[in-house]
Amino acid sequence: MSADRLPPLREVIAAHDLGAKKSFGQHFLLDLNLTRKIASLAGDMSEAQAIEIGPGPGGLTRGILEHGVKHLTVVEKDARFLGALEDIRAAYPGQMDIVEADALEVRETETLAEGRRVILSNLPYNVGTLLLIKWLEATPLWWSRAVLMFQREVADRVVAQPGEKAYGRLAILAQSVCEARMGLKVPARAFTPPPKVDSAVVVLTPKPEAERFEDLKALGIVTGSAFGQRRKTLRKSLAQAASQTSQSSEELLAEAGIDPGVRAETVGIEAFQELAQAWRRATHP
Ligand code: SAM
Repeated sequence: MSADRLPPLREVIAAHDLGAKKSFGQHFLLDLNLTRKIASLAGDMSEAQAIEIGPGPGGLTRGILEHGVKHLTVVEKDARFLGALEDIRAAYPGQMDIVEADALEVRETETLAEGRRVILSNLPYNVGTLLLIKWLEATPLWWSRAVLMFQREVADRVVAQPGEKAYGRLAILAQSVCEARMGLKVPARAFTPPPKVDSAVVVLTPKPEAERFEDLKALGIVTGSAFGQRRKTLRKSLAQAASQTSQSSEELLAEAGIDPGVRAETVGIEAFQELAQAWRRATHP
């Protein structure tokens, strides 16, 4: 089968009996104009080794292949989709591999060839943030661009700036490693079946190595504590993280040069990085 003979996605879904399963977070994109637009957010992929998580019936997969990519590996947990994905693979000989696996378990560097590696996904809602954290924490950081669709509220939390309502742990972790920007807002009605909420595509580009903050574990602990009680001052909200160290929250905040009387949402990303370093030192005095 050649690429231009692939049947419309609605026919693929009917032919393979691919009703969406809620437990796997399945909401499909069937509009290939939209999926091509999402793929284009990855930039030029003519030399890229791309990986797509959760291809499902293959709407975004086709968008990526039509946009142009050197090689694409798709990782799908639900074996029901393998037949439909095989048809796409046959239409793009030598350009696509299919891996049946849970993306949380996959070792991407063993699966992808060397080169410019790019991640694309219309992420399953239930594992979206877990996968994002896995990719942010990867050492060495093996990817050079990620184009990821989340629920709108999660996307807002990834790109949020200090002072904004959505600013918190996720923005600080993501932006300590990457430049993060909103790529495209996608209304719920664009999906089949439509989810309850809108979605959005976020584009992440890792910062140069020297500018990345590495200790995401410590940063996750201090921001988890600080934003866990976001209405309280840091003096109080940081107590939980401080209890794991030899210092009080006031001592840790003083070391990081942060006023203990302010709330977490007003504190910038670099100040939180200082705080994570102070926390780390105090756990290993
Ligand atoms: N990419 C397709 C699209 O845009 O139409 C489907 C997107 S749907 C929101 C999420 C897909 O991720 C489903 O195909 C689902 O089976 C798959 N999935 C869910 N959990 C997964 C996991 N842990 N690892 C790999 N794929 C997963």
